[in-house]
Amino acid sequence: MPHRTRNAWLRTLSQLLAVLAGAAAVGVMSGHPWPIVTFAALGVVAWHYWRLRGVLLRLTARQRLAPPLGDGVWNELDRLLYRGQAEMRGRKRRLIEMLRAYRAAAAALPDAIVVVDRGTQRIQWFNEASGALLGLQYPGDIGAPLVARLQPLPLAHWLSAGRHAEPIETRSPVNPAVTLTLRLIPYSDELWMLVARDVTRLLLLEQMRRDFVANVSHELRTPLTVVHGYLDMLDPEDNPEWAPMLAEMQRQSQRMTQLVEDLLMLSRLESQDSLPSEETVAMAPMLAALRREATALSQSRHDVTVEDEAGVDLWGSHRELHSAFSNLVSNAVRYTPAGGSIRIRFRRDGRGVALEVVDSGYGIPAAHLPRVTERFYRVSNSRSRESGGTGLGLSIVKHVLNLHQARLGITSEVGRGSTFSCHFGVERLRSRKPHPQPA
Ligand code: ADP
Repeated sequence: MPHRTRNAWLRTLSQLLAVLAGAAAVGVMSGHPWPIVTFAALGVVAWHYWRLRGVLLRLTARQRLAPPLGDGVWNELDRLLYRGQAEMRGRKRRLIEMLRAYRAAAAALPDAIVVVDRGTQRIQWFNEASGALLGLQYPGDIGAPLVARLQPLPLAHWLSAGRHAEPIETRSPVNPAVTLTLRLIPYSDELWMLVARDVTRLLLLEQMRRDFVANVSHELRTPLTVVHGYLDMLDPEDNPEWAPMLAEMQRQSQRMTQLVEDLLMLSRLESQDSLPSEETVAMAPMLAALRREATALSQSRHDVTVEDEAGVDLWGSHRELHSAFSNLVSNAVRYTPAGGSIRIRFRRDGRGVALEVVDSGYGIPAAHLPRVTERFYRVSNSRSRESGGTGLGLSIVKHVLNLHQARLGITSEVGRGSTFSCHFGVERLRSRKPHPQPA
């Protein structure tokens, strides 16, 4: 028991003893000790009941307690209650301040934030930016159904995906010049948070970057063609001592030309959301062409096999698909040491098909796998440069496959080889027509 409380107890007990002793003394003097002592004891009990009643009344009234005066046990109880209430008030005040600060922070965010009830899909709360970006108005839109309120936005289907809803990019219902990305964050069992961010500037910068790369590549093309042309005209036999330099210059100008072509191709792929024209891509001649390319690149250093098991054709862009597949084949040849094998396989894959390029080459360490499709990402700079790579091949493959709603799968084991597979959905399949065989 704390010191202060013990003292209060002792004081109250000594007061009780003093009252009883006084009553006993008066009783003895008057000749009736027991009735007077009993009367005094009853008086003490009544007084305690009275104090208890006071405490109960104060607690029921939920009023703010006053700091107690005096030092008896009841005053001590009052003091403890007063202290508890003051602490509770302090905690509540701090909580309210914190809540206000969070609300103010959420309200001041430049992104639109809308809290939505998961069951009813009605708006519970939104911040200021929601007015400018989504056109929500306070207080009319509190409690409004979200999908109906943001009508032009394709939200109904999106909301039904719930936790798995992928971010979507859409125009702002207030200003069509503003592009928003919408994300759905389920942050409790009952509440979802819709976050809308203005990405107009970001998209503009991205467009500028793309235009810049495309323009620079385009401008480099002509001077490179000239240099390349003149280099081709030089005959190493005229000046045999220049022959190694000439060969190196030709090799480097070839590489630069390839780099510029790859950059232009990538810019073109990035700037389109869908393929401009689609056709049936005959796979038998495509596989034959890939075999020829692999054999030419390999110069008989590898064992090249082609397996055509799917027996169907694809629907898409011939030029783009050929470029993607031939990038995979060229990688397989370049990253497989002499004596290794390269297998090109076109097979059924569930209801769709997959084109696989399997090599027995160096392989890719698992840590690098998620990044190999990034532009200029190389597992080993020296090996890639030595092999004449531009660092753009797999980016091109990924973009081409995206435009065909196809997926690139990569499995690899260091020292054992890699498998790159392009998975096409059933909507990309076309039954194969007999093709005229070359004479
Ligand atoms: P690069 O022109 O450098 O080959 P890519 O985009 O085609 O660029 O490939 C990116 C990187 O992925 C390469 O630098 C290489 O390290 C790795 N890579 C690609 N294909 C293979 C493969 N078949 N085997 C091993 N590593 C590969």
